[in-house]
Parts: sequence; structure tokens; C-alpha cells
Amino acid sequence: MALSELRRDYLVDRFVVVPTEDAHGNGNGHGNGNGNGHSHKKHSKLCLYCPGNEHLTSPAVLAMVQKDGMYQMLSDDEGNYVKDWCVRVFPSNDPAVSTAPNVAYGEQPMYREPAYGFHYVVVAAPEHAQTLSNMPIDQWANVLLVIQDRVKWLYSQKRVNYVSIFAGYGKNGGSNGEHSHINLVTFPTIPPTIMQEAEASEKFMDDVGACPMCDLVKMESNGPREILSTQNFTAVCPWAPTYPYEFWIIPKRHAPSFSSVTQMEVNDLALMLRSSLGGLRNSLNNTYFNLAFHLSPEKKNNVMIHWHIEVYPQISNWAGFERAFGVYMNNVAPEHAAEILKPASRKELAESVGVK
Ligand SMILES: [Zn+2]
Ligand SMILES: [Zn+2]
Ligand SMILES: [Zn+2]
Repeated sequence: MALSELRRDYLVDRFVVVPTEDAHGNGNGHGNGNGNGHSHKKHSKLCLYCPGNEHLTSPAVLAMVQKDGMYQMLSDDEGNYVKDWCVRVFPSNDPAVSTAPNVAYGEQPMYREPAYGFHYVVVAAPEHAQTLSNMPIDQWANVLLVIQDRVKWLYSQKRVNYVSIFAGYGKNGGSNGEHSHINLVTFPTIPPTIMQEAEASEKFMDDVGACPMCDLVKMESNGPREILSTQNFTAVCPWAPTYPYEFWIIPKRHAPSFSSVTQMEVNDLALMLRSSLGGLRNSLNNTYFNLAFHLSPEKKNNVMIHWHIEVYPQISNWAGFERAFGVYMNNVAPEHAAEILKPASRKELAESVGVK
């Protein structure tokens, strides 16, 4: 793996992870935020994440095994791999961040620090062809429980001030492509997007006396941008989406912490994710998407957001304008996107719970 460092822009709070200088030239760029650990496997049929290939990754720190309706959280011992897992977690073979000693430090305006952290891969299902859009609800619930467990553990580690959770579903996803997985990457500082949301939330609370996300849930419920509502969650196309067909999944009750989500809520979230992602797949011809959890950091500090999941379908590429000016061009109004996604998601939900 390449050692990497975290650089800050000369002026503004924009951070970039780049390989440290002596790690150059391995051709293993990992800055795009998805597909880590698989890039060098594109030309071979062997999948690192399939059962039987456990020895090709680092030992699992957690392997969930189901037995008689119960589950166990196990881990690999030296050369002894847990078999028949339904979810498997291990350190990435091509990590974006590292806990290895690193010398990259520097001051403004060329600020840099080691990109310190943990990068785990959560394999979402043993079957290679199972995707985040078509896997059973129970399996999604298993994945969420494993993520919850790992997030708690990661926050107990030194120099972990934020745990980011994100996934990409590839163009070649499904049977011909990448094995579905979710990345957990930790950072020593809170990422700028989370800071911005937290600062704006705090200001809103001071001004209005309410949480902006709670407000949003109330405002959008049964409105033209809502695509699906379950007992505990709502899915909406946001008012100002930066991507066509972007949607967010938000807990209806105020909830800053993902760790305190209950088993019942996990099951409901699994239903919501499966239905909305299935609806997206069916409406947009199996499109590529990114999915990210926006959570409050769980270490003692005052940074707080009402947590949510953001889904960014990738049907068009940003054309440089967005990057250049921070103004996004989106040729699909969220009201129209919701018109498409709403019936498709509801159909998926009805079929998932066996209602016609
Ligand atoms: Zn596979
Ligand atoms: Zn709230
Ligand atoms: Zn957000």
C-alpha cells in the first residue's frame, strides 16, 4: 500500500489525500472514493471478496455468521478463516489512510499531515452478484448491524475523530462486476462537509429554535419531493440536489447518533434502503450511484447533525463548472425525479414485504 498524506489548500478548507512523495509511481490511485481494493483485480476473474478467497485479504476483524436465526460476530485467527459468513469486515488491501508511521507534516500555506486512520471494507453479502439494490432486507439489516458495531469500535480508537461510511455501486455492478461492499474510513479531523452541516444546523437552531432536519422532515412529508415513507424514515429528493435523482434518507425523529439506532429501526432502515435503491435501479437502468452516511461524530464535542444518508446517482458527469464555481448544474428538477422514483420505490417496498 501507499503511504498517503492529507493536504489542505493554500487558503480554503479543502482537503486532499495524496500519496506521500516516496510512495509515488505505484499507479494505484485511490482518490475516487470507491472501488478501493479492487482496482488491480479488474483484469482477472478472481474476486478478493468472494467466499473461498479469504486468504487474499487481511484477516477479518469481524465476520458475521448466522445460525438458527441468531447471529454471531466472530473474527479470523492466524490462518484460520471464519467460514459461512454473511458479512465480512477486514482492513482494505488498498487503503486510503493508514496507521503506519509517516513523516508528512507541514505548515500553512502548504499544510500537510499524515493521512492517519483505519480503512475497513465491509463485504455486504457472500454472493458475488448480490447488490445493494437487490439484496434481501434481512441481509441489509445484517450489514447495518455490522457497520454499527464497527463504528462504535472505531470511535474507541485514538486519533479517530470521524468515521466516514460510503459505498459505490459500479457501472459493472452485479453479476459481471464488483462485489458489493461498503467502505469505512476514519479521519483525525471532522470532514469539511460535516462541519458545514453542523455549523449551519447550530445557527438554524439558535435562530429558529428547532433542528433544520426535523423541520425538513415535517415540510417535505407528503409533498412533491417525498419518494417513500416508512415507520421511522423518510426518503426525499432534496430541494436543491447537486445530482440528478439525488435523494436522502432521514430518520423522522431527531437522531444525532447512528450508534443508538435500535434493532427495530435498523430493520426499518434496511427496508427503506432496499426499497429506495431498488426503485432507483428500476427507474434508471441500473445506474451507478454513491451512497454516504452523514453522521455526527461520536467523540465528545459539540459538533452535531441529525444523521441521514445521501444517495448520489451518477448519470451525468460534472463538467468542471461545478468544481470551478461551486454552483451545480442539474438538468432534472427534484420534483420530477420524485415523480419517477416514488412509484418505483413503492413497488419495490410492496414486493419486499410481500404485499401486492
Ligand atoms: Zn466476489
Ligand atoms: Zn432533528
Ligand atoms: Zn448531509
